Amino acid sequence: MQVDLLITHASQVLTIPSHAQGPQRGDRLGDLATIEDGAVAVSNGAIVALGSTVDLAARYQAAQTIDAGGRVVMPGFVDPHTHVVFAGDRANEFEQRIAGATYLEIMNAGGGIMSTVRATRAASRDELVDQTRARLDRMLAHGTTTAEAKTGYGLELTAELKMLDAIAQLEAEHPIDLVPTFLGAHAIPAEYQGREDTYTDLVVNEMLPAVSSFTLHPSSLFCDVFCEDGAFTLAQARRILEKAKELGFALKIHVDEFGPLGGTRLGVELGAVSVDHVVTTPREEIELLGRSRTIAVSLPGTPFGLAHRDYTPAQAILAAGGALALATDINPGTTWNESMQFIMALACRYLKLTPAQALAAATINAAHAIGRGGSIGSLEIGKQADVLIMDVHDYRSIGYRYGTNLVRSVIKRGQIINQAS
Ligand SMILES: [Zn+2]
Repeated sequence: MQVDLLITHASQVLTIPSHAQGPQRGDRLGDLATIEDGAVAVSNGAIVALGSTVDLAARYQAAQTIDAGGRVVMPGFVDPHTHVVFAGDRANEFEQRIAGATYLEIMNAGGGIMSTVRATRAASRDELVDQTRARLDRMLAHGTTTAEAKTGYGLELTAELKMLDAIAQLEAEHPIDLVPTFLGAHAIPAEYQGREDTYTDLVVNEMLPAVSSFTLHPSSLFCDVFCEDGAFTLAQARRILEKAKELGFALKIHVDEFGPLGGTRLGVELGAVSVDHVVTTPREEIELLGRSRTIAVSLPGTPFGLAHRDYTPAQAILAAGGALALATDINPGTTWNESMQFIMALACRYLKLTPAQALAAATINAAHAIGRGGSIGSLEIGKQADVLIMDVHDYRSIGYRYGTNLVRSVIKRGQIINQAS
C-alpha cells in the first residue's frame, strides 16, 4: 500500500495512548505503550499505521522515508497553558527582583502585569503578531506542535479583541495549532483599582457576549479567570465563569498559585476542563479533583522562575486518582520559557514524576486539557501526524537532560517542518 511518509528504525516509538478516550489518570499515568524498533506510516497528514519497522516496511511503499536511526519517536508536545501573546518584555523587573524588590513594590511602581498591558494596548495587531511569531517559532523548534494561547493583556474590549485577532492570524499562518482562551479577567486594570466589581460587570456584561461571537474554533473557545488575592475573588470568578458557561465557552481557571481561595472546588463544580497552577490546594479539594473529570494543569516553570519552593502536589493528585498535565505558562513576568522539555525536567525533579509520567502529562493529558484529546497528543491511528524525532535513544533522557534542545525533527500534520542536520 502507498503512503506519504514512513518513519522507520525508531529505537522506541512512544505512542502514549488515551485511556477510555480520556487522559491517563492516577497511578496509570505514564503508559507509553512503546514499540521497539518501531515505525510510523503517515498519509494525508494523519497516522495510518504503527508497528515494527520490519512489519511496516514490508506492508507500505512510501513517497518519503525517514530513517530515525535508532532515536526516540514520539507525539509532538502540547502546551495547554500559555500567555505567549504579548508585547515588550520585563527584563528590568527581573533585575529588580534579584535585587530584592517584591512583586507588590514592582506593581506599585507601575510594573508587573500592567506594564505588559500598556505595551500590548500600544502595539498594533501586526506588531503583536510579529513579536509572538518569534516565540512560536522557538516553541515549534523545541517540539511543541499545539498550544493554548490566552488573551489577558488588553483588559479592555478592543485590546482583548486585538489579541484574539492576533491569535487567529497566527493560527492560520503558523505550523503550531493554537487554541484560544479569553482571559479578560487576568488582572484588575489600573483604571479600575478599588472598583473590582465594576470591572467584573464589564467582563460579564460586555466582554463575554462580544467575545462569544468571535468564532475561531467555536467548539473550543475557552474562558479563564485568575482567581487569586489581588486579582479576582471566588465570587467574582464564579460570576464570570457561570456567564461564560451559559454562553457556551469551555472553562479554565487559575487557582491556588499563591493561596487557596476555593478555586479548585469552583472549577470542579462548574465542570471546568482544567484548573491550572494548583500549588496551595487543600487536601479535600485535591480529593474532589481526583474524582472529577477536571484536569490539573501544573506549571512548574512559574515557581522556578520566581525562585519559590512550592510546586504542584502531583503525588497527592495522582494518589487521589486525578489527571495531571504540564504546561509552560510562558509569560513575560514570571516565566519566559518556550520549552516543554525544560518543563519536563522541572516536573521530574520537583513534582517527582518519572520521565514516562512527565511525557504523558506533556502530550496526551495536555491535549485533553485543551479539549483536543481526540485528535492530537498521542500516536494513534487516525490522529493528526504531529510527530517528533528526538535526538536520544532512550526516552528517559528527556527530563534527565536539560538546557539543550533534544529535538531532531518536527513533523506537523505529516509535513517535515525542521530537521537538524
Ligand atoms: Zn497563567
